[in-house]
Amino acid sequence: LVEFQHVTKKFGDHIVLDNLSASFFEGETHIICGRSGAGKSTLIRCINYLETVSAGTITFEETPVNKHTARNVRKHVAMVFQDFNLFPHLTILENAMLGPIKSLHHHRPEVEQRAIRYFERVGLKEKIRAFPYQLSGGQKQRAAIVRALTMEPDLILFDEPTSALDPEMIGEVLEVMKDLADEGRSMIVVTHEMGFAREAADKISFMDQGQLVETKAPTEFFNNAEHESARRFLSQIL
Ligand code: ATP
Ligand code: MG
Repeated sequence: LVEFQHVTKKFGDHIVLDNLSASFFEGETHIICGRSGAGKSTLIRCINYLETVSAGTITFEETPVNKHTARNVRKHVAMVFQDFNLFPHLTILENAMLGPIKSLHHHRPEVEQRAIRYFERVGLKEKIRAFPYQLSGGQKQRAAIVRALTMEPDLILFDEPTSALDPEMIGEVLEVMKDLADEGRSMIVVTHEMGFAREAADKISFMDQGQLVETKAPTEFFNNAEHESARRFLSQIL
């Protein structure tokens, strides 16, 4: 679904992605973990052209991601951010409907029905007319996930979706994500929630020094990580 071929990304002299090659497959939940500053956000932001690469190629569904294709890629790749990024002046229903209407040109009644179905699924049907400020962090993040789903994307990118949440709200968001993983959605998830990773991931990658130094199925990853930095990370976090 997504291929990185010898991708390098620099900010000035600072190499953040270092000749990185990787494949992300359709129907898989691929989790990326690693230390702060390892380049995890940069990696996923390159996929939908929120960052540009310095060298190498990223393809999405066989098409190279570049300034000409970015608009189209973004129609198929949704993103969920740590801090929700909901529009404060719109209700969560309007937030969810905006993308499909403005950028996909879908018809309003159909989009509304679809959005409401997803709000129902994540337990927010009663809140669709609420504004973001009227909701808890966990509710806002579930609304942001509905916004992503309403685009009917082929891939959803998550960048630490639970890091900004109070502990008691993390579970409700992970539960929704687990549900999506079980449904066979294609997802790339940056997270430190290793319990979730163990349960939901098809693959887990550890990122270090601008590369994915370890990529394994969960059981293998937790029991047989080979790379020294991954083992150290796991021993500190588990
Ligand atoms: P965290 O776990 O803290 O979110 P991360 O793994 O997501 O970290 P990135 O945000 O991808 O890391 O950043 C990787 C490196 O690139 C960091 O050293 C960061 O300071 C640097 N960096 C990121 N964005 C920019 C930018 N726009 N300009 C300059 N440097 C940047
Ligand atoms: Mg980050």
